[in-house]
Amino acid sequence: MTNNSPQPDQTALNFKQPEGRLFIAGQWRDGPSSFGVSNPANGAEFARVSNSGENEALEALGAAVAAQDGWRSVSPRKRAELMHRLHDLMLEREDDFARIMTMESGKPLTESRAEFKLSCDFLRWFAEQSAHVHGSYSAASNGGFRIMVAKQPIGPCLLITPWNFPLLMIVRKGGAALAAGCTLVVKSAQETPLTCGLFAELVQQAGFPDGVMNLLHTTDSSSISGPLMADKRIKKVSFTGSTRVGSILMELAAKNITDCSMELGGDGPFIVLDDADVDLAVEQAVICKFRNAGQACVAANRIIVDKKVEGEFTEKFLAAVRELKVGDGMTNVDVGPMISARQRDRLGDTIASLTSAGGEVMIGGTPVDGAGYFFNPTVVRFEGPNDVMCSNELFAPIATIFPVKDTLEALTFANTSDFGLASYVFTQNVSRAITFGERLEFGMVGVNRGIMADPAAPFGGTKASGIGREAGHDGIYEFMEDKYIALTVD
Ligand code: NAD
Repeated sequence: MTNNSPQPDQTALNFKQPEGRLFIAGQWRDGPSSFGVSNPANGAEFARVSNSGENEALEALGAAVAAQDGWRSVSPRKRAELMHRLHDLMLEREDDFARIMTMESGKPLTESRAEFKLSCDFLRWFAEQSAHVHGSYSAASNGGFRIMVAKQPIGPCLLITPWNFPLLMIVRKGGAALAAGCTLVVKSAQETPLTCGLFAELVQQAGFPDGVMNLLHTTDSSSISGPLMADKRIKKVSFTGSTRVGSILMELAAKNITDCSMELGGDGPFIVLDDADVDLAVEQAVICKFRNAGQACVAANRIIVDKKVEGEFTEKFLAAVRELKVGDGMTNVDVGPMISARQRDRLGDTIASLTSAGGEVMIGGTPVDGAGYFFNPTVVRFEGPNDVMCSNELFAPIATIFPVKDTLEALTFANTSDFGLASYVFTQNVSRAITFGERLEFGMVGVNRGIMADPAAPFGGTKASGIGREAGHDGIYEFMEDKYIALTVD
């Protein structure tokens, strides 16, 4: 297939580009060099941003350390007010955020807007949490003294974010950390620095004290994470990205026993039981699989369908996938490009390994000719459970379907994975929904829904999918430490 999708309206591309410099101690600074940001829909470089090295990283840390005492002393109410101001400034820039996210990451504009709205909701949630932090007071079990537990900000944090949800990730981490009273050194993803740059611009406009948030961009992440993680002044690293890099960061964290939260890869089993509402399952499977061209940690990786409904499900799913429009996210499309030529090119090997394991390509399976890194929406069907995709994150617009003979086989196959992030089950039977909810070995289970993120819900995984939870009622405590004070009483 050739990419014949319409070209974007040029007026949509004429907007003020966000800051591409580094933001350190409240100042915008050039780095020692610069690098280009490209649009994955056409491969063209459209901006240059500053590239930081070790010196800038340590200066950013110095600024975060210098600002820490002041920021933790700002009253929770005042912190919340600043965050609400930031939220309101963001709302005024929805179009700019959506456009820059689409240009950097390739996702369709409607998805960028959805990510923007969700990010604003998360920020407001954390602002509201700021003034609701509470400790406890109780009697010692054997009497004689009292136990006071106070919640205190953990201190300067290193936040490392990925490109696939560039705004949501900086807000989900940064919002909680700021609300908790921590200062930040944020490292953007090389592919999406400008979304983070625009966010930092608004942090400055909202009036946050200098040094509370610092932003670095780099093409050489380890040249920054190495020296920062070796520095004992970093009190926590919060990372979202691949399990491979998460493991490297945990090794670095081990040296100084630095606290860490890890949101890593996933292998979302998407289970359709024989009593499912098949139309609903098809609709949700399309969203869950093809959103962000499949480049989501919570994407449906293995679609596991009871044989009794597999025929109906597959027929309707293929029909829906055939309707998906692929093209430049600035136009009216459903599926944008892969983030890079490298990510698109690896999919040839992915298809080869799926077919050599017995998979049949029912639709797609090839890249789209022409500029940009597009891959045709693909469906590969297997005859039964097959471990080829267990513990293997597709991270692509490729759906795999595995028929199973009954609910037990569905559950067992779903749990055959090193990952444990998101899972999904479709059933109209409450008892089965509860059983799967309890027995799926994943941090999150979507029952009759393929999208789950919400500020009030704890997001995170088990096993190789990570450690810790983001957001939810306790989300702010990820960036706080318990301080126990023992009080003798007469
Ligand atoms: P990645 O691990 O390659 O990169 C993530 C971030 O880490 C980027 O900012 C990158 O520059 C940085 N990085 C790379 N090497 C580093 C190093 N040595 N030290 C410090 N930082 C380093 O992952 P990616 O390809 O950008 O993102 C895709 C992965 O992220 C997928 O596995 C996906 O499942 C996962 N992800 C997880 C979640 C979640 O919440 N669990 C959300 C989004 C993405």
